[in-house]
Amino acid sequence: MRVCKKCVLPDTYPGISFDREGICNFCRQYEKEEKESAAKHFTGEAELIACLEKYKEPGKRYDVLVPASGGVDSCFALINIVEKFKLRPLVFHNDHGFDSAKATENVKKLCKELDVDLLIWQYELGFMRKLFKYFNRAEVRDLSACHVCGNMLYINALEVADRFNIKLLINGYSKGQAAFIRGKEKARELLAELVDIVSHDSDFLERLTGKYKMLEKQRHFMGKQDLKSEVDPEKIMVIPFYIFKFYKTHKEELKKLCIDRFDWHQIETTYPARTTNCDMIWLNCHVDVVKSGYTIYQDEYSTMIRAGDFSREQALKDLEFNPPRDLLERLAHDVGLDLSEIKEVKKESKEEAVAARATMSKTEQGDFGF
Ligand SMILES: [Zn+2]
Repeated sequence: MRVCKKCVLPDTYPGISFDREGICNFCRQYEKEEKESAAKHFTGEAELIACLEKYKEPGKRYDVLVPASGGVDSCFALINIVEKFKLRPLVFHNDHGFDSAKATENVKKLCKELDVDLLIWQYELGFMRKLFKYFNRAEVRDLSACHVCGNMLYINALEVADRFNIKLLINGYSKGQAAFIRGKEKARELLAELVDIVSHDSDFLERLTGKYKMLEKQRHFMGKQDLKSEVDPEKIMVIPFYIFKFYKTHKEELKKLCIDRFDWHQIETTYPARTTNCDMIWLNCHVDVVKSGYTIYQDEYSTMIRAGDFSREQALKDLEFNPPRDLLERLAHDVGLDLSEIKEVKKESKEEAVAARATMSKTEQGDFGF
């Protein structure tokens, strides 16, 4: 398998090509765009903090919703938001049934330490089991159940912010995920694909498409101009962690800070290594490797390498994929998936299917506002 010399994308990744130096087209595209977008960045943290002032409303209990997974990134973000930015957060922890108890404990300990409100939403397990079953079983390339699950977690955060009338959401999604959330065409294409896969289960279909409607409420941070303008009372402004300075801090350093501060605990067997992700990632990634020849984390880490947030060497190490055998079987059994049914999906069939579904999405699915 050929892998880009700059990032970690393999030749199985859709639309990839390599130049003479072995660098992929996505890395080259990034270099070009980065030069053009430099003006959009904040000059310093003080400028960013000043912009966030307008989200502090006197008399309101919360200024911001902060989803916290229990990993070092979200924990450290929360410490910054409370102590440096002086925003009053409602912390939100989403447990979709396959979350580690240690991750939840980390969030609880930190919220105690910071003396802030924490809301834990244990999401309906039946829905999540079906989600993992349907999207893993589907004979479709380049569609990860992790991606769909990630969408649900993101939408849940929007729902909570909306319920508590909070207009600011500081969220831990990566640049890779951001590209998807902002890409309207890509999002529509994906939704059409999802609808097609679950069309046999009308209850599930209704629930799923109902969730995506919530995306109409989001307003995406695209550059500092968005935070200079007034607060839109109808929308929830979503800011990713990666615009903050701390995001560039070395992970090991963040880890030490979290351990010293509130007895943060590492989760032993996660994928990619050193993250605080859930067990289900192992199963989803195993299926993705069999079906498509890569995982979405190669995509995500490549984006971070390009931005200079991660070294290629470290990414290759963290992305080594050795799933605990019995864990895969246990998880597959739990969601009702037969692992022996999962087969490689050929590239050609994918393009035709996507084209057909994309046409359908525009006429039958309407506009989801994202
Ligand atoms: Zn590359």
